Amino acid sequence: SERAAAAEWDGTGRTSDGHRVKVLANVGSPADARAAAEAGAEGVGLFRTEFCYLDADQEPSVETQRAAYAEVLAPFAGKPVVVRTLDAGADKPLSFLGMGTEPNPALGVRGLRVAFDRPDVLNRQLEAIAGAAADSGAEVSVMAPMVATAEEAAWFAERVRAAGIERAGVMVEVPAAALCAAEILRAVDFVSIGTNDLAQYVFAADRMAGALAELNDPWQPALLRLIGTIGEAGRQVDKSIGVCGEAASDPELAGVLAGLGVTSLSMNAGSLQAVGAALAARSLSDLQAAAEAARAAAGPGQSRQAAKSTG
Ligand code: PEP
Ligand code: MG
Repeated sequence: SERAAAAEWDGTGRTSDGHRVKVLANVGSPADARAAAEAGAEGVGLFRTEFCYLDADQEPSVETQRAAYAEVLAPFAGKPVVVRTLDAGADKPLSFLGMGTEPNPALGVRGLRVAFDRPDVLNRQLEAIAGAAADSGAEVSVMAPMVATAEEAAWFAERVRAAGIERAGVMVEVPAAALCAAEILRAVDFVSIGTNDLAQYVFAADRMAGALAELNDPWQPALLRLIGTIGEAGRQVDKSIGVCGEAASDPELAGVLAGLGVTSLSMNAGSLQAVGAALAARSLSDLQAAAEAARAAAGPGQSRQAAKSTG
């Protein structure tokens, strides 16, 4: 937009009046991490660890995992990195887990649910992450995918802290977790909203189905309203609320998310500049007004329009 083009990003995410919103990168390999550091990311908001397990017939050893994670963390020494534990299931099958097929893989045993049956796999991954954090000097925190309840969040946080990792968080990508954000935030240090899955589950619309793309549009007011309730819960306890789904990479929407109370945005390296510049172009109260208008709209098109013409 013209507004975004008018402002420059100086490498620290903030609104024009100085409200901090961290601009972070999503990475899934050492090459991604180097590119993200080069592009000026303040840190990593989502490190997808699946790459380490792909094509492995056997679970990689703790030493193998530790070395692989340390290579990704190395460019971010002294900076915050959120490592996500394994997000596998019948939708992203891993042969060593021997999970078989399920009729509804997106609704099945995926993400943290795998760890309830196989806590040993989670514990070894946490041990490797703790080791890689020490090797690299990155400020590592860990989060779990596909958490549905505060009880699950507490179960995960306990294991993370037992592994010697200080900060534990969870992704909010299941509507039940969004509705219980206040209780979840009591159990963990932060949450990060996975808008790709959250939209899929809120609209009962497969995120891979092209015919349903409009339902999965992150400008949908129903999704924005739900994100707003999570932002409100975060403000009340003063804990960090991230977004690490595709929504964070749309510069106009990034500002709306900040207006809804989101405190960090994580995206592909290619979007960092545009998002940083868009944030710097508007004040927090302006973005809050845009967010109010967007979430009151009748549909995603109207929501986009309303956010643009406010402030
Ligand atoms: C999400 O669901 O928004 C997310 C960031 O996780 P993934 O895309 O890896 O499922
Ligand atoms: Mg997800």
